[in-house]
Amino acid sequence: MLKGKTALVTGSTSGIGLGIAKALARQGANIVLNGFGDVAGPTGEIAGFGVKVRYHGADMSKPAEIEAMMAYAATEFGQIDILVNNAGIQHVARIEDFPVERWDAVIAINLTSAFHATRLALPSMRKANWGRIINVASVHGLVASAEKSAYVAAKHGIVGLTKVTALENATTGVTCNAICPGWVLTPLVQKQVDAKAAALGVSNEEAKKVLLGEKEPSMQFTTPEELGELAVFFCSPAGNNVRGVAWNMDGGWTAQ
Ligand code: NAD
Repeated sequence: MLKGKTALVTGSTSGIGLGIAKALARQGANIVLNGFGDVAGPTGEIAGFGVKVRYHGADMSKPAEIEAMMAYAATEFGQIDILVNNAGIQHVARIEDFPVERWDAVIAINLTSAFHATRLALPSMRKANWGRIINVASVHGLVASAEKSAYVAAKHGIVGLTKVTALENATTGVTCNAICPGWVLTPLVQKQVDAKAAALGVSNEEAKKVLLGEKEPSMQFTTPEELGELAVFFCSPAGNNVRGVAWNMDGGWTAQ
């Protein structure tokens, strides 16, 4: 379905970003990966789908590096047809204890980077009259949790950015939507499981149950594979007039 298209997925060396990159590659899209850590593993996995894969290590907190990555992708593949703004970090602390440097980093990586990538991707998408911008927000773009001020502010912000991007391009073939996962067992959440296990003095498995029990009625983690298939739907012809939605995949979290 996506043969000949190019998808750039930020923060795709692990977790949800890698899951989405794999789902898009399975549909035939060439992929530009981004993120830190192991690059060879994810590159090999994507190449296994028989598509072209490139990597750019831009730090998404640095606008000049984002510009360099977008230019690199355009040079390698002609243009970016699908942009997935996914890179994100978390920091958990009460507001009065929240380190200012962590606030700035969360806002820069989880919100401002999406503005930069979007503004740089739009001109060629509009010229082609086809494009998909998918912002990985969170249930925390819809509701809040204590001790996650920067994250919740960034995720509510990216839901707003999604709506504005959708509206400004509503008469074109460029759509923009957000995905709002509940708990997904990635390294980002494993850190919170570890903290919970340490704080309560319980095993890892018990800590997972406590975490799910607090918020997610299904008592199941959403998977990167499931989120990848939602991204594929947004890219399909059936998604042509889906614009500005914030689609939760959260085991009932926000239904409560
Ligand atoms: P993860 O830690 O597994 O992956 C994060 C990715 O972002 C990695 O590839 C990492 O290298 C990259 N990254 C981090 N800082 C970066 C930077 N400065 N520049 C470039 N890349 C950077 O986390 P994840 O859980 O897969 O999270 C992906 C997205 O999904 C985030 O936006 C997160 O907020 C969101 N999300 C996660 C959950 C969850 O439960 N895991 C739930 C809702 C939303």
